[in-house]
Amino acid sequence: MRRFLLLFFVVTTVLILAIILKLRLFTSSEQTSKITITASFYPLAYFASSIGGDHVFVTTITPAGAEPHDYEPTTQDIITISKSRLLILNGGNVEPWGDKIKDQLKGTSTQVLVAGDGLFNQNLQENGQKIIDPHIWLDPLLAKKEAEAIEKHLVAIDPAHQGDYLRNLKTLETELDALDRAYKAAFTSCTLKSFVTSHAAFGYLATQYNLTQIAISGISPDEEPSTQKIAEIAQLVKSQHIPYIFFESLVSPKLSDTIAAETGAQTLVLDPLEGIPQEKQVSGANYFTIQEQNLVNLRKALICQ
Ligand SMILES: [Zn+2]
Repeated sequence: MRRFLLLFFVVTTVLILAIILKLRLFTSSEQTSKITITASFYPLAYFASSIGGDHVFVTTITPAGAEPHDYEPTTQDIITISKSRLLILNGGNVEPWGDKIKDQLKGTSTQVLVAGDGLFNQNLQENGQKIIDPHIWLDPLLAKKEAEAIEKHLVAIDPAHQGDYLRNLKTLETELDALDRAYKAAFTSCTLKSFVTSHAAFGYLATQYNLTQIAISGISPDEEPSTQKIAEIAQLVKSQHIPYIFFESLVSPKLSDTIAAETGAQTLVLDPLEGIPQEKQVSGANYFTIQEQNLVNLRKALICQ
């Protein structure tokens, strides 16, 4: 009986060890066989995952619940980037660290794609200076161009899976086209054209659908507006009878609340899609669900029929 128990113990231990080893081998070989991609923030990571499918392993550098404008990569981020085959940036200075890392990665095995290159055609005034508006991912048609650039780069790195990448790109483009049609149809009979946002993230979207963005902060969420600017916006809200002031989920709603309190307006979320908190992603939030919710909220704020 004792001998039997000993034998049973040995056999069980060997089996457990074999399973652990196999799992480990499987995980590491699965990861190394995939194309490793680092993306500076959420929308680019979402596009890369959608196009790359099972052939890629995507890491988002800006943490899920943060926004990219003032994120500084950690030492670990730099290591992850330098180990990846492809780093995807948006450009337009939304990643203040982008230019520096581009120089550092020159001549290494990590390729860098600036997905927004050639797409920035709007400026904003900030502190009397003209600044490029980087928020192209919020316009579904410009997002398509970024997705196309990502697919092209993936094919260059991994031509063996060209067919899969092209098919996934087409699926993504079909969804972006549908989103564009939904936005085009949404604002045909609205009382208002202007909406008040927390920071100036919706300029390209506004241009595409013939709306006017009034931004409380500047190009980045932590840009503090002057008291005079707040007073001007409050005046505009009152004179145009704007019923809702937008705020965003990743930054403090303080300024939106101030204007709302001063004018009697209410507040509502308009999400610039610069990051989605992990728990929201787990419960199904993605680029499209947020764009659709933004559309519902915009229609409410613009008093659309
Ligand atoms: Zn922004």
